[in-house]
Amino acid sequence: MTVHLVPWNTKLNLLEEANRLYETAKTFDCIQKGDLVAIKLHVGELGNPYYVQPVFVHDIICRVKEAGGKPFLTDSNTAYLAQRNNAYDHMKTALMNGFNMAPFIVADGLRGENFQLTKTKGILKEIEVSGAIAQADAMIVVSHCKGHELTGFGGAIKNLGMGCTPKAGKLRQHRTVGIEIDTSKCVGCGKCKEVCAFHLPDIIQGKAHNTSSLCMRCPMCIASCPMEAIHFVDKQNLCKALASAAYGVLSTFEHKKVSYVSFAKDIAQGCDCLPNPGEIVMKDVGIFASDSAVSIDAAFLQSVDAKLFNDASEVDCMVQVKEAKALGIEGEVKPKINVLN
Ligand code: SF4
Ligand code: SF4
Repeated sequence: MTVHLVPWNTKLNLLEEANRLYETAKTFDCIQKGDLVAIKLHVGELGNPYYVQPVFVHDIICRVKEAGGKPFLTDSNTAYLAQRNNAYDHMKTALMNGFNMAPFIVADGLRGENFQLTKTKGILKEIEVSGAIAQADAMIVVSHCKGHELTGFGGAIKNLGMGCTPKAGKLRQHRTVGIEIDTSKCVGCGKCKEVCAFHLPDIIQGKAHNTSSLCMRCPMCIASCPMEAIHFVDKQNLCKALASAAYGVLSTFEHKKVSYVSFAKDIAQGCDCLPNPGEIVMKDVGIFASDSAVSIDAAFLQSVDAKLFNDASEVDCMVQVKEAKALGIEGEVKPKINVLN
């Protein structure tokens, strides 16, 4: 399964380059006349400028229509209490960030109640798939490649596994990771509690303790602790959970009905969910297209210095890719890249 790439060459018309890429990769061959086509994207957190530029998404919408499909933009609400946590605020964010060129349907409903519980394989046995995605006929997965605090990096597999699942599914994945507080380091300052959406952990006799089932394993408290007393345990489990959830999401589609476009541009260490993703850490690479989530993520990682992500997150970025392949998602962990010069 070859991955196709147009380099991010600003001496060329990049919209034309993107279309040359889609032609070569046959990106829209997955669409038949009348298909309801989910264009799965991340509309960006307000304040974060690094999400996929709306002009490219508009172009993809036009291509889907030309192929006979009925495109709608979609994403699932967040589990954490940010501005995309419910459909109203999510839709408002989409509009403010420029995604007004097709209906934006929040895939899991007003507050995450619309999903289809689906059997999967691997570290999870079942996964909640957001309703509008489970019911779509075809899907174009539009991803932005960037670093991620918990999974090393985020690309197509993460867009499927985390992005196509509602709050319940996201929590199911996050809770494969453990959290520990080293009480010998804790000074009881309560900074962790201040930043936590659920006002966890409990501070008991001057020490923080977290045994709550509400904890969603977000990195907020860890980042806030001045004593570096809070740590995740078995972070690799989340990478495996992404792959497991991605398998479940793909099982709601017929074979060859999902296509992938990944933008390796504005590559920051932090993910698109953060309002403050930090510095750009890598040079722009280009736009990838493939019919495989495994191959397109592997192609990105072999095109950059992935060690930078691995070291920053203390997770091997390839875990999610290898796990997805091991579960039976089609693709190659060392794909051939066809560079369109
Ligand atoms: S990981 Fe920390 S900040 Fe996040 S929900 Fe759990 S206790 Fe709260
Ligand atoms: S922020 Fe760190 S040191 Fe302060 S109470 Fe929480 S765990 Fe303890």
